[in-house]
Amino acid sequence: MSQTIAICNQKGGVGKTTTTLNLGVGLSRQGKSVLLVDADPQSDLTASLGWNGDALENSLGRLMYLATQEYKPIVKDTIIHHPEGVDLIPSNLDLSSMESQLVNAMSREKVLSNLLKDVKKDYDYILIDCMPSLGMITINALTAADSVIIPVQAQFLPAKGMTQLMKSIDMVRNHTNDKLKIGGIVMTLVDGRTNLAKEVIDTIRMKYGMQIRIFDTQIPVAVKAAEATKAGQSIFEYDRSSRPAKAYEELTKEVMRFAEREKRRDEAAIAR
Ligand code: ADP
Ligand code: MG
Repeated sequence: MSQTIAICNQKGGVGKTTTTLNLGVGLSRQGKSVLLVDADPQSDLTASLGWNGDALENSLGRLMYLATQEYKPIVKDTIIHHPEGVDLIPSNLDLSSMESQLVNAMSREKVLSNLLKDVKKDYDYILIDCMPSLGMITINALTAADSVIIPVQAQFLPAKGMTQLMKSIDMVRNHTNDKLKIGGIVMTLVDGRTNLAKEVIDTIRMKYGMQIRIFDTQIPVAVKAAEATKAGQSIFEYDRSSRPAKAYEELTKEVMRFAEREKRRDEAAIAR
């Protein structure tokens, strides 16, 4: 049974793309088959894997466009393979026009979910890198997902933004995907010299109680993480002994433990 995880936070610069890439490659290094989906018209994930999205003819935007026009596009033809073992549905600016196109489409929240159905069986994990907004594309990502992982930047108290995100998650649960779970919050860009991460965690705990898991693993702020992205590599390929590489390896294991527990729970529910 394949697990689809949306990496989501409508705030930009919190480490969504970096986490999608390194968690994806991390899972692949654990022997899992992984598809990454770039659901951001800025195509940062596509770029950080070494492709120029705008030079690609096939993209997520094109797939979604064709699907809304009642064509049945072949999703596999858009998937590209990265030398580090992960597959990618790339993105480019074509996706930005989808935000308005979708408004009038049939089953507009389910376009991505329907597309991914065709390839789900080929992957253990599908990770969707969301754009920094809670518009229709992100709603599509949450509708397609089994769970959502929320990267939260340690430097800022995520007061209002988190409440909006939780509202969107509840809306998706009530309307298009009642199975959506919150995988958890991962603290990113954590500067060990300050207590900010702890303050942010305390604030989240106070506001949302114990209902939301906060992953034990924290991703440290480290230049190497940003350098790897620029080099078109995962942190594992760029510098396997670096602190962010160790952190992303730990996070990968935590996510696998969570996903496998959920999978067993779902299988038990089906058996009943
Ligand atoms: P988002 O996708 O949420 O906008 P990104 O993953 O693109 O966030 O990260 C924002 C910026 O921070 C990028 O320039 C990225 O290279 C950098 N970055 C991400 N994670 C780290 C880290 N652990 N340490 C230092 N820089 C990071
Ligand atoms: Mg991003």
